[in-house]
Amino acid sequence: MSPLDVGTHEQADRAVAELRSTWGAEPDGVWTAPGRVNLIGEHVDYNGGRCLPMALTRITAAAVRRRDDDLVRLSSTDPDAAPFEGRLDDLGPGSATGWAGYAAGTLWALQQAGIDVPGMDLSVSSDVPLGAGLSSSASLEAAVAIAAAELAGRADSVELRHLLVQAAIRAENEVVGAGTGGMDQTVALLAEEGSALLIHTRDFRTEPVQLGLAEAGLELMVIDTRVKHTLADGQYAQRRADCDEAARQLGLEWLSDATAADVDRLTDPRLQARARHVVSENERVDTVVELVRAGRVAEIGPMLDASHASLRDDYEVSAVELDVVVEAARSAGALGARMVGGGFGGSAIALIRSTGAAAVGEAVVAACRERGLTEPVTLTVTSGPSARRLS
Ligand code: ADP
Ligand code: MG
Repeated sequence: MSPLDVGTHEQADRAVAELRSTWGAEPDGVWTAPGRVNLIGEHVDYNGGRCLPMALTRITAAAVRRRDDDLVRLSSTDPDAAPFEGRLDDLGPGSATGWAGYAAGTLWALQQAGIDVPGMDLSVSSDVPLGAGLSSSASLEAAVAIAAAELAGRADSVELRHLLVQAAIRAENEVVGAGTGGMDQTVALLAEEGSALLIHTRDFRTEPVQLGLAEAGLELMVIDTRVKHTLADGQYAQRRADCDEAARQLGLEWLSDATAADVDRLTDPRLQARARHVVSENERVDTVVELVRAGRVAEIGPMLDASHASLRDDYEVSAVELDVVVEAARSAGALGARMVGGGFGGSAIALIRSTGAAAVGEAVVAACRERGLTEPVTLTVTSGPSARRLS
């Protein structure tokens, strides 16, 4: 059995057990959706730029039983997630809070999009680490969305999946109140196994890009710093506001359309630095896609390094833990490394030779220990499929 099968079925089994113990229900089906890691293209999704994430084999599984009434009952194996109960027409902003906002909010947004969501009991279990920058939130939304759409009698199609993406984004923006830009939901619902997904975020057009990591003797390592600085609260919104203001001053709808000359025209040094990140990051995405398509994936390391420097210096969303593990990974032989996700903690990625995983893993732990920082956890990740019905 491949690692994918083991991981996937383990979470499915746990979700089914959770459905039985909390709601006394036998599932009509189990659906899964993946977490993701973003190879490159950070903080560009809300600026109309491009990004290149890949779906992971780490997933959220949702075991679901359809109900004949209008009750929605939700639970999770996560010990911090209290069970939720609500009526179908009362799942929107203000009603579902905490973790239930992601799940109930998705059901609300699906109804808003005209999908005839039935009452249901739904339980989830996930091996995507929560809050580590691997998008447990979008994997939860996508698993709920694909399950509910099928229960509502919708046939699977690319068009349907695009609609589910938009519903999941609405849930996170309007019910949870998080300013997500859509990359995570898109990759969770539209990725292809073995490939990264180039996303044009202004119209959500996607193109699979075959990575060929294993063929090149390479692996991608995720380094979870296990740190989330509370200072991060509000920073995401501030970065978005900076970008909106920079675009406004330049008379652009999308900041990623700015040229280098446009960036120079900005007079506020902070806005200029933010814009410089967005523009340069978008260019790095294009360079990485070109290299990968030319079979030169081993040469993308410097682009990862430059992305990290830009996020640290121009976008100012790194953290000491991220800088330390990125530097340690490179010193131990990684071809390139960078922070991923929103920043201020969470995870970094390193592109490594398959033979070098142990050395890099030890080096990042040692570097943090030496500096008195929380010890990180490492995992090598492979590309998995998008949301689907499992059983
Ligand atoms: P990330 O998406 O990077 O993991 P977020 O802060 O966006 O981090 O989302 C994490 C939140 O999503 C958790 O705090 C929780 O509210 C919710 N969540 C995700 N997966 C689950 C799950 N399996 N059970 C309960 N809540 C979950
Ligand atoms: Mg998230």
